[in-house]
Amino acid sequence: MFSTFYKKKLDELLYHCHRNLPAGLANDKLISQAFKFAYEAHKNDKRASGEPFITHPYDVALILAKEIPLDSVSIASALLHDVVEDTKFTFKDIKAEFGNEIAEIVDGATKIEGMFENYEMKQVESYKKMLLSMTSDIRVILIKFADRLHNLRTLEFLSTTKQMRLAQETLEIYAPLAHRFGLSNIKTELEDLSFKYLERKSYDDIAKRLKQKKREREKFIKGFIEPLRQRLTEQGFKFEISGRAKHLYSIYKKLVSRNKTFDEIYDLFAVRIILDTTNKNDCFTVYGICSEVYIPVPERFKDYISLAKQNGYQSIHTTLVSKEGRMVEVQIRTKEMHEVAEKGIAAHWKYKENTNQHDANLENWMKLVRESVESVSKEDTSKQVLDSFKLNLYQDEIYCFTPKGELKVLPSGATAVDFAFEIHTQIGLRCIGAKVNGKIVSLDSPLRSGDQIEILTSKNQTPKLDWEKFVVTHKAKTDIKKFFNTERRNLISKGKEIWERKAKKHKIHASDESLSRVVHKFKYKDTGQFFFTLAQNESAAAEIIDVLTDKIKLQSLEQKPTEEEMKPVDNLASNFNRYVDDARNSTEGIVLGNGSSQNMSGLKFDFAKCCNPIPGDDVIGFVSQEKGVRIHRKTCKNILNLFLKEPERIIQIKWSDKGVGEYTGGIKIIGEDRPGILNEITKTISKNFNSNIKSVDIKTRSSMFEGTLILSIQNLKQLNQIIEKINNQEGVFSVTRYEH
Ligand code: MN
Repeated sequence: MFSTFYKKKLDELLYHCHRNLPAGLANDKLISQAFKFAYEAHKNDKRASGEPFITHPYDVALILAKEIPLDSVSIASALLHDVVEDTKFTFKDIKAEFGNEIAEIVDGATKIEGMFENYEMKQVESYKKMLLSMTSDIRVILIKFADRLHNLRTLEFLSTTKQMRLAQETLEIYAPLAHRFGLSNIKTELEDLSFKYLERKSYDDIAKRLKQKKREREKFIKGFIEPLRQRLTEQGFKFEISGRAKHLYSIYKKLVSRNKTFDEIYDLFAVRIILDTTNKNDCFTVYGICSEVYIPVPERFKDYISLAKQNGYQSIHTTLVSKEGRMVEVQIRTKEMHEVAEKGIAAHWKYKENTNQHDANLENWMKLVRESVESVSKEDTSKQVLDSFKLNLYQDEIYCFTPKGELKVLPSGATAVDFAFEIHTQIGLRCIGAKVNGKIVSLDSPLRSGDQIEILTSKNQTPKLDWEKFVVTHKAKTDIKKFFNTERRNLISKGKEIWERKAKKHKIHASDESLSRVVHKFKYKDTGQFFFTLAQNESAAAEIIDVLTDKIKLQSLEQKPTEEEMKPVDNLASNFNRYVDDARNSTEGIVLGNGSSQNMSGLKFDFAKCCNPIPGDDVIGFVSQEKGVRIHRKTCKNILNLFLKEPERIIQIKWSDKGVGEYTGGIKIIGEDRPGILNEITKTISKNFNSNIKSVDIKTRSSMFEGTLILSIQNLKQLNQIIEKINNQEGVFSVTRYEH
C-alpha cells in the first residue's frame, strides 16, 4: 500500500510508542490504521516546504509519543488531526472508521485551528481560558501543543506575516499554557522558536554570545560540579549532575527585566542534580551537602517540594557561590519530579508511589490528576485515568467574539440576548435577532465558546417579556427588568391621564379610595394595574365607568348579591317593582315547569335572549299575541322599557320547584392573555359541571383577554358555582354573569 519508506516511518513511531507509553497503552493496530488513513487522506497534499503533507501529522504524533507520552488514542488522533481540516473526509468519516472518542478529539483540534487568525492578540488571558473552555478532553490541548511545536519548527517556509502571527500567538497563548500543564521542554522550545521569529536580532545576539562563551562556560561548569559529584558519591547517592545554559528566551527576559548587559548576567546556566530515589527527603540532605561544599545565598533558597508550583513542578532551588565568586543556581529533585517537570501530567501516572504533598493548585484539575494517580495503581492504567483527565476548566464560562474580534466572557448558557446586553444596554434593548458564525439563530439558543456573534437591532424593537425567562447574565436581567419597570411606570401615568379625561367626560367624581374599591371588584390588583391596562386599551375603562355611573352594575359584581341589593333602586325600577308585587298579589302567576320552550297551562312561552333567565332567577313575563309569553329576568333593562310602554302586558312568572331542564346562561371572563388559559377554562367547565359550551367569543387586547361563554345551564345555583370556580383560576381577573 505504501512504500518501504513509510513502512519504516510507521515502525519508528511504534517503537517510540512502546518505549514511552505506559505499559499496555501502545495499540499497534490502532496506530497503524490511523497512519494509513492519514497517509491516504493527505496523499495529494504538500506542505509549504514541499514535503508530502503526511510528514506533519506524523511528526506531531512522534512529538507526542516522545515528549508527552499519553496513550494510543492520542497518537492516532494526532495522526488524524488535520484530516477534517484539510481533506475531503469529515467528522462522520472519522467517527465511522475510528469511533467517537478519536472523532471528538480530532473535531476539538479542528475547531481550535486558526481560532485567533482574524483577531488581534489582545485579551490573551481570556484567549487561554477560551481554548480550555472549548475542549473537554485534555488530549486535544496536548495535540495542539505538539502541532504548534512542529509548525514552529518548520516556520521558515511560511510568509513573514504568517511567521509573526504564529510566533506571537504561540508566545502569548501556547507557551504559557504548556507551562501551566507542566510541559517545561515543550514550553521552552515554543518560547525560543517564537522569540527567534519575533526578535530576530536579540535572538541572534544572545545565541552568538552564548556560543562564544561556550568553551569557557563548560570548563567552569566542570570545575564547579566536580567537588559536588565527589561528595555525593561518597555519601552513597545515585544521581545525575549536569549544568547547562538556560534557554535563550529566559535570558532575554532577564536582560530586559534587570536592564543589564549580557556580561553582567551571571545565572546564564543552572546545575541540576537528579536523584535516583523515591524519598523526597534525600533532596534536603543533598541540599545540606551542597551547602557544605559551597556557600549558599540564603535568600535565593526555594522549596518547591513542600509547596509545589501550581503546575505540579517540584524541586529545590538554591544559589551557591563558586570559588571564583560567581553565583550558580542549583536545582535538586528526584527522578520522578524531573519527569513531571519535563513531561507534565503524563508523567504523573507512570509513578505509582506518589508524594503526599499538599499542593496549591491553580486549577482544581491538577488536583484531580494527582488524586487519580494516587488512587489508581500502575497496572490499572489508561482508561480510568484518562477519563479523569477530562478537562473541566472554565466550563462554566464561554468566550465569544464580537464581529470586530473583541472577546466577551459570558456564563455558560448565555444567549444572544445576553451577549447583546453585554456589548451595550441599548444594543440589548433593540435586539431583534442574531447571527452566530454567519447564521441567523433564535434569540434564546445558547452560545458556545469560540462563536462569533453579530447582533441585529431595530430602533422599533423593545424587550419581550419572555426574554426574562432565558437570559442568564446579571446585566441582561437587570436591564430588562429596568426597562419593564420604566415601561410600566410610563404606561401607568399614561393610563391615569386617560382615566382622568374619561372621568371628567362622564362627570365622575370618584375618590381614589372608591375607584380603588371598584377596580378591585374587577380583579385588578390596584388602580396602578387598572391604569396600566387602560393605557394599552382604553375600552377597559368602560366597565368601571358603568359602575361608577350606575350602581346596579356594581351590585351585579358581588359574588353573592343579597335580595335587597338585587332590587332596582331608581324611581323607574321602584315603580316596576311595585307593579310586580301588585301582580303577584292579584294573580297566581304562571308556574314554569320543565323544558325551555313549550306550551304550558295552554300558554306558549320562550326565554328572552337578552338576559337568558335560568331557574333561580327572579323572572317576569311579557305577553305578546304572536309569541305568547317571553320571559325576562327582573333586572333586564329591556323589560324595564317594555314595562314603561305597556305595563298591562307584564305578567308574573314563577319557577316550578321541581324545575329541571336545560337553559342558556352566559358568563363574561376577563383575564390574562396567555397561551392555554382558554383551554383551562373550558376544561374546568366540562370537567366539573354537566354543562355544554354553546358558544365562545374571545377578544384580546394587549396582554388581556375578554371572553363571553354561552353555556347550557340547569339553574342559578349551578351558574354561580361555575362563576366561582373560574374566578379562582390563575390568570382570571373577573368573572361575571353575561349581561349583554
Ligand atoms: Mn496541524
